[in-house]
Amino acid sequence: MLFGRTALLCLVALAQLAFGAEDYYNLLGISKQASDKQIKSAYRRLSKKYHPDKNPNDKTAHDKFVEVAEAYEALIDGESRRIYDQYGHEGLKQHKQQGGGQQGHDPFDVFSRFFGGGGHFNQQQRRGPNVDLKVKIPLRDFYNGRTTEFQWDKQEICERCEGTGAADGHVDTCSSCHGHGVKLVRHQLAPGMFQQVQMQCDVCGGRGKSIKHRCPVCAGQRVVRKPTPVSLTVARGAAEGTRLVYDNEADASPDYVAGDLVVTLVEKEPDYADNPDRVDGTFFRRKGDDLYWREVLSLREALFGGWSRNLTHMDGHVVRLARGPDEVVQFGHVETVAGEGMPRWHEDGDSVYHKTQFGNLFVEYAVVMPDQMDAKLKKELRGVWDKWIKKNGVDLHKDSGRPEKVEMRSDQEEHTHEEL
Ligand SMILES: [Zn+2]
Ligand SMILES: [Zn+2]
Repeated sequence: MLFGRTALLCLVALAQLAFGAEDYYNLLGISKQASDKQIKSAYRRLSKKYHPDKNPNDKTAHDKFVEVAEAYEALIDGESRRIYDQYGHEGLKQHKQQGGGQQGHDPFDVFSRFFGGGGHFNQQQRRGPNVDLKVKIPLRDFYNGRTTEFQWDKQEICERCEGTGAADGHVDTCSSCHGHGVKLVRHQLAPGMFQQVQMQCDVCGGRGKSIKHRCPVCAGQRVVRKPTPVSLTVARGAAEGTRLVYDNEADASPDYVAGDLVVTLVEKEPDYADNPDRVDGTFFRRKGDDLYWREVLSLREALFGGWSRNLTHMDGHVVRLARGPDEVVQFGHVETVAGEGMPRWHEDGDSVYHKTQFGNLFVEYAVVMPDQMDAKLKKELRGVWDKWIKKNGVDLHKDSGRPEKVEMRSDQEEHTHEEL
């Protein structure tokens, strides 16, 4: 046992001696089997976290930022990842020295190829527009909470030309405007009278740069739009209209630092196709923390009682509605089922710190009259009814005190006509 531990310590020491750097997978917090998407997502998160602009004068953060960029570059390229997996840091270093693969990039370049701009967050840098998206979520996801994914057509910096727009990556200064992006044009207003106007360079479109061979992927545009998956976590009980902000995840461009992607959660209309488990709760209506449901009873049930219903809630648990024999339910009656509404959102969620509380479920009863009845049954029923009413019945019309006949006042009628 003791030997084993010593041997392990030696191994660890050796490994550090040999590599002198932390394992790239560890560094990005991903597994050896991680997909490209997971690598990108890890880089996206960590590079923002450790960016020197966000951690001024923090040497540790700066070093991390550099290492994270290095790890990302090594793993995102198929060939260099294979070499790294097989031969580690040393192997990769040799491969680079022999001119294989991409040469090492400045960590700020890596960052700018991801988020656009010059690799910095600082104020002088132009910031791209925020992008607002509405994402439709079924009610049950608001109820249960869920981590899901959606896609949108995001503008990204072209990977092929790395945002230069040139097939060979070579960009020249525009010869027409000498790199200024603008030209001075003289207009003759009248003989001998000139006005000098500054105009955007028509040759380079104001960029001040020109390209001989356009990148075949982006056609010289430097950016491409493509479906981009975004991970979305809907917290349990999140309100409709909840806004989730993804820092610097909006459209990227070499000209600016990407703005924020702002996602607004919207409730999706329920539909039968989207309800494979036949959960009644799918069709609940939500109002804040409360839920609404309409239950239909037959005349017989409403009048004589002795019925039960099982409602399947959105997480599959059953809510039982029932009445004993002879318990009457009035049409339109609203029953409050306490604690069967929406979970109330709380920052701690359902944890040791907090027990989730729920709103109410309001069940409104609708009573349907039989529209088809055996003639004999109908006659008998009516006979019983009439007999009973004659004996002790209540005449609703008489009791209401309303007049038997309604008399129209002719002058008022005319007056109304005039107004029209
Ligand atoms: Zn391109
Ligand atoms: Zn120009």
